[in-house]
Amino acid sequence: MELLVATHNLHKKEEIQQILGTEYLVTSLTDYDINDEIVEDGKTFQENALIKAKYCFEKTGKPSLGDDSGLVVEALDGRPGIFSARYAGNHDFKKNIAKVLEELKDEPNRKAYFVSMLCYKDENGEHFFEGRVYGNITEKTFGEEGFGYDPIFTPEDQNQTFAEMHAEDKNKISHRKLALDQFIQFLNVENKL
Ligand code: IMP
Repeated sequence: MELLVATHNLHKKEEIQQILGTEYLVTSLTDYDINDEIVEDGKTFQENALIKAKYCFEKTGKPSLGDDSGLVVEALDGRPGIFSARYAGNHDFKKNIAKVLEELKDEPNRKAYFVSMLCYKDENGEHFFEGRVYGNITEKTFGEEGFGYDPIFTPEDQNQTFAEMHAEDKNKISHRKLALDQFIQFLNVENKL
C-alpha cells in the first residue's frame, strides 16, 4: 500500500518507512514534485496534522498521512510546542536547541515530551492517532544522530539522548512509533492492507 506523507523532511519520511516496514511504500511531497510549503496555521497539533493530510489528499487523491509533531517542555508552559520547527530559526535545529537550553538555564524542572499527531485521510474520511514519549531535557547537546531536538532529549528510563541512539533504537520507542502503531492497528482492522 502506498502512503503519501505530508512532509519535505527526508528524516521523517525515512523514520516512518522504517517503522512501517516494507508492506508500505512511503512517499513524500518531494516524490510528487510538490514543493510548496504547506501553511500550518492551526492552533493545535491536531489542526495542523489535518491541514497537512487534507492538502496532500486534495493534491493527489492518494491515501495521505499528515504528521505534526513537536517538543513540549513543562517549565516553558508547553513551548516550543506547535512552533517546534521554527522556534528560533526556520528548521534551524542548532538555533532552536540553543533557545530551549537558554530558556531552561538554571531551571531544575527538565521534564518534557515529544508528541506525534497523525491524521490519516482517504476517500472515507479522517482519523487521528497520537503518540507521546516522556523524558528530560539535558543541560547540553549529546550525539549526532536523528534531527531536531534529539541531541537534548533523554527518554525516561534511558541514559542516552535520542541523538546518541541508533535510528532503529529510537524508532522502537519514539512518539512517532507509538502513533504509527495505532495507525497500523487501525488499517489492519479496516482491512486495508
Ligand atoms: P513538523 O514538521 O511541523 O511536525 O515539525 C516538527 C518539529 O518538531 C521538527 O522540526 C523538530 O524540531 C521537532 N521534532 C519532531 N519530532 C522530532 C523528533 O523525533 N526528534 C527531534 N525533534 C523532533
